[in-house]
Amino acid sequence: ASRGVPNRLVYHQVAAAGNDTDAGACGLSHLRIENLANESPTVNCTTRLAVKDNIAAPGFPTTCASKILTGTNIPFAATIVSQLRSRGGMEVVSKAGMDEFGMGTHSTTSAFEAIHNASPREQYSAGGSSGGSAVAVKEGKADLALGTDTGGSVRMPAAYTGTVGFKPSYGMLSRWGVVPYANSLDTVGLLARTVRPIREAIVGLGLYAEQDPRDPTSLPESVRSRITADREGYTSTFTAGESLEGLTFGLPLEYNIQELDPRIRQGWLQALQTIQELGGRVVPISLPSTRNALSAYYVIAPAEASSNLAKYDGIRYGYRDTSGPSDAQDGVLYARTRGSGFGSEVKRRILLGSYTLSSEAIDNYFIQAQKVRQLVRRDFDRIFKLENPLLDEQHFPLSEMDESIGIETKLGPAQVDFLVCPTAPTAPPLLEQIRNQTPLDSYMNDVFTVPASLAGLPAISIPMDIPVDPSSEEQKLLHFGGLQLVGQYWDDARVLSTAEMLS
Ligand code: GLN
Repeated sequence: ASRGVPNRLVYHQVAAAGNDTDAGACGLSHLRIENLANESPTVNCTTRLAVKDNIAAPGFPTTCASKILTGTNIPFAATIVSQLRSRGGMEVVSKAGMDEFGMGTHSTTSAFEAIHNASPREQYSAGGSSGGSAVAVKEGKADLALGTDTGGSVRMPAAYTGTVGFKPSYGMLSRWGVVPYANSLDTVGLLARTVRPIREAIVGLGLYAEQDPRDPTSLPESVRSRITADREGYTSTFTAGESLEGLTFGLPLEYNIQELDPRIRQGWLQALQTIQELGGRVVPISLPSTRNALSAYYVIAPAEASSNLAKYDGIRYGYRDTSGPSDAQDGVLYARTRGSGFGSEVKRRILLGSYTLSSEAIDNYFIQAQKVRQLVRRDFDRIFKLENPLLDEQHFPLSEMDESIGIETKLGPAQVDFLVCPTAPTAPPLLEQIRNQTPLDSYMNDVFTVPASLAGLPAISIPMDIPVDPSSEEQKLLHFGGLQLVGQYWDDARVLSTAEMLS
């Protein structure tokens, strides 16, 4: 470890890689490039892939950075790993460190080694929970990295390390072979130094179009093609590389919170100006329910996590605590194993989730949070020009009767293509500061990333320049923040092209 900071950002290096049946060996012949006419692919058989440690890749352990899964080797490849290997000819070069089970914002809750930011910012947070994936691409150890994003875990590390992190629409990429944290929110995301390899993987390799029958949350092919057909006019008139003419960007007023670091605010304003210079239109918009999104997320995610983690009992998986008497009953073994096998943040989430699902609390917490989630979704649907193809208008109408004038009014004009806001309210904090933070302080960091997660929308974080005071050594080190672009459901291709133009 350098400078007394926990190191080993990436672990289980390539030497551990074993044989894998779907290896494309350098499968350039498998490379299928769609919708990227006239562009020569950068994703090819020399592309090195880092895989977050909650995603199965044969030959590497899959521990989710938890003691309770120590030594676990999942013998098959997650669908996303197989797809990238066989289609893109990519090679898995390492597993990447993370927060235990994806629960955290700074990659410091790992049972093994906490991650720190890339050189020369080692003393700062790398973001979490996919911190190892972000540092792997930042340091050039991988060209592309897989992460998972439940409430911001791909976007946050991208923002803190100056890389690009993309969370696709919920249900787009298969989660088969990915250890679940909160099923209704989990997505597999990608990180790289630029947008290009991510766009090539999603659009170029055609991953967006593929349903995985082994993942029940993978969007059916019929729905995928219906959305593509319905949106023909939008997508075909839009080509990356041209100006932003004709596109409208929403500036969500509620995101201008008091806690926003003034340098991040300035960077945001500068980015909005750049958008206008490139021909885009910027309009202020309101997302009133998003102020409750964070609380709703921290009820829903732990509730689902508490259920998912119930299976780690020392009997069926990985680690077993045998420190007590050998004739202990199953229940004792179970309690002991979970007591010593899970870290404190994971235990906090299990307790929180078990409580909010209990009969005495469910109405006030879990059910309320689900209602807030619908309101957050509705806020987004109201402001995007594109319709949400999954919208159930009957239950969540976007217009309502205005009794005073006796006519139906839309709840505000639908007007924007994308939302633009910071990814995180501050530049990366010092790891030392994080040690003194309360869990609540850390949850607060996710305020800008959880709304898109609750609504299942595609979102990307790209590096955003922030002003630097030349006399401040610290500011010189941290001269970037993350700029987040959020699009309507399944508008991933346009989010990626637009982000590429802006970065
Ligand atoms: N920081 C959030 C949490 O701890 C998000 C994590 C994630 O997206 N996996 O739940």
